[in-house]
Amino acid sequence: MTLYASTHNPGKLREFLRACEQSAISDLIVQPLPRLEDIAPPDETGETFEENAVLKALYYSKFCVGCVFADDSGLEVPALGGAPGVRSARYAGENATDAQNNALVLQNLKGSVDRNARFVCVIALAQRGKLLHVVRGTVEGDILTEARGSNGFGYDSLFFYPPFKRSFGEIGPDEKFAVSHRGQALRSLFDWISRPPDQLA
Ligand code: IMP
Repeated sequence: MTLYASTHNPGKLREFLRACEQSAISDLIVQPLPRLEDIAPPDETGETFEENAVLKALYYSKFCVGCVFADDSGLEVPALGGAPGVRSARYAGENATDAQNNALVLQNLKGSVDRNARFVCVIALAQRGKLLHVVRGTVEGDILTEARGSNGFGYDSLFFYPPFKRSFGEIGPDEKFAVSHRGQALRSLFDWISRPPDQLA
């Protein structure tokens, strides 16, 4: 079966395609939603990752007959009241770069002893405007006082993962996928898809 990914983020898309290659479902194909670049993205008005993932999946699923998935993900820092949260991509402003967002997290956490953080990923699957399933994955770590490594995207180089004693910016894509929020959420989604009885049209 083919699942259409509705993300514009090349970092996320790379992880989705890699996950598909590693999946045990032999006939699974993950592809970007056709003509995604011509579709105006919906406003992400939700206050939770779930609300945004669902609204995106329902919206994009109207542009194709197959199954479409959308993810909403981000970084939650308890010492910042859960920020950047659903505003992770635009923490430092509407068109902020990863570097600007990272700099603002470091600035707002300056002097804080509590550096705990978690990445969250929620993926919603929909077909022709009907919600089929929602999954969630999280991974816990700490915010470093300066960036380490240049792998990955977003906040990866600030996110220290204690079991590996390295940041997500210092590990390879397979290592990251084995433990990451997105890896967990996708594995749950693939488990659900591969489970009988027929759940998909
Ligand atoms: P979304 O496109 O609204 O889901 O925004 C997600 C934002 O959260 C990204 O632009 C990154 O800033 C951040 N983010 C989500 N997942 C990751 C990850 O795996 N590594 C680093 N940053 C991430």
